[in-house]
Amino acid sequence: MSDYDLILLGAGPAGAAAAIKARSLGLSVGVIDEASAAGGQVYRTPSPALTATQPDADRAKGDALRAKLAASGAVLYANHRVWSLRPGFSVIAIGPDGPLTLEAPNLIVAAGAVERHIPVTGWTLPGVIGLAGATILLKAHGVLPGRRVVVAGSGPLLLLVASKIVAAGGEVAAVVDAAPRASWLARAGSMLARPDLITKGANWLLALLKARVPIHSGTAIRAIHGTDGVESVTIGPVDRDWRPVGDAERTLAADAVCLGFGLLPSTDVTRLLGAEHRYKPELGGWIPAVDASLQTSVPGLFVAGDGAGVRGADAAPLSGELAALGVARRLGRGGGGGSAGEAAQTEANWHKSGRFGAAMSALAMPPPGAAAMIDPDATVCRCEGLTRAMLDAAIAAGARTLADLKATTRCGMGPCGGRVCGEAAAMLIAAATGWDREAIGQPSARPPLRPVPLAAITGAFDYDELPIPAPAPL
Ligand SMILES: Cc1cc2nc3c(=O)[nH]c(=O)nc-3n(C[C@H](O)[C@H](O)[C@H](O)COP(=O)(O)OP(=O)(O)OC[C@H]3O[C@@H](n4cnc5c(N)ncnc54)[C@H](O)[C@@H]3O)c2cc1C
Repeated sequence: MSDYDLILLGAGPAGAAAAIKARSLGLSVGVIDEASAAGGQVYRTPSPALTATQPDADRAKGDALRAKLAASGAVLYANHRVWSLRPGFSVIAIGPDGPLTLEAPNLIVAAGAVERHIPVTGWTLPGVIGLAGATILLKAHGVLPGRRVVVAGSGPLLLLVASKIVAAGGEVAAVVDAAPRASWLARAGSMLARPDLITKGANWLLALLKARVPIHSGTAIRAIHGTDGVESVTIGPVDRDWRPVGDAERTLAADAVCLGFGLLPSTDVTRLLGAEHRYKPELGGWIPAVDASLQTSVPGLFVAGDGAGVRGADAAPLSGELAALGVARRLGRGGGGGSAGEAAQTEANWHKSGRFGAAMSALAMPPPGAAAMIDPDATVCRCEGLTRAMLDAAIAAGARTLADLKATTRCGMGPCGGRVCGEAAAMLIAAATGWDREAIGQPSARPPLRPVPLAAITGAFDYDELPIPAPAPL
């Protein structure tokens, strides 16, 4: 028997909005998230020490969302990490009180996005953190990544993170953006629709200029140096395809690096459940194929938010509402899921609102030449300690898919399950074969999707209860 009409995997802006909408249409809803409260990445709850300080706009929006979700009557299972799923749907999680399995005929996956990493020599040193991860450190904990920080990679998070470091009293040694300045200008048309967000970005830029932070466009990190932690960073120019060019290098003193190249839609759950996917580089890469109500090729399985294509925090709630309307329609509930007009209007608003986020996502997207930024001695798969040279050797020996690389080198087989190294490994196959990224495909998804104690898989048992076969007669 089902526990709910609908389960939401993820309580970020998309998942929370979907739950609130579904409740307003009369559906019973369970929401499950590994975080300690709803809000997702952008509206993450700050630590109690920070709440006493001056509130910021994201915090206020997060508090309003959490209050609305609590009042909606949806049941929130916070601190529950989903590590497996079964068709139909069973959502299997581990929480503070042990294993939990929830059942529902409809599932909306609103699991957000993961960071895209391009490994450089020295990125495994203590003091190097993901660019998106740095937003958590700064926003939720008020902690600086270091005293003198190089902020590098691509996309709008560069300016956000650098300006937050400056505002928190840290020093930014440089912002290092692989994209040429012309890429930003090329997307100006899509940005004009959101003057409020342009103003936000302009304010970040102004704060950096005021603090005399050097901003290097068309430039990337060549290596990060240090013994027990980051001590310095060498940067150098890249061409339009992000290939390192020339020897105009310079080395900057720094004790931390925030490094990231945009976001990838999180598709491990939809892959595990067998949904079809398609490659949309302008939305971050592989996304589930969906119909107008965001239902995937698996009946009853819907997606919302950045997991349906990286469009940013403003568009995420609209996609959640659209998916909730689709679920209600599928169940024949809530007056057939609202009027067709409401769904069409929500869809139109979602597309409009997503234009800015999609332009930002495309700006962060590395072109194929970016694989040249990965040196032979750079560690690509951190869990298994595999360098580019090792992976290149496997590719030269015939590995053509991520599954081939996994089978021959164990790349992606560690606790990260390929979330950190998978995209870089695909870039290496594409570089060696000359194939499009699309032709390389996605890694297969298998449980556990998240690290999980063995007891959660085996269940509780006592060794005394194990049947011991009688000894064979001599
Ligand atoms: C690390 C990170 C930091 C970011 N920081 C910012 C920022 O500062 N400003 C900004 O504008 N945008 C930021 N973004 C982008 C922003 O998060 C999204 O555009 C927006 O929040 C998308 O909303 P969403 O609901 O789709 O996903 P999210 O907000 O990411 O919500 C997804 C939720 O799903 C949960 N989840 C995922 N997988 C599981 C699982 N297996 N088990 C249980 N729960 C799961 C997560 O805990 C999360 O709460 C960040 C993205 C990332 C990845």
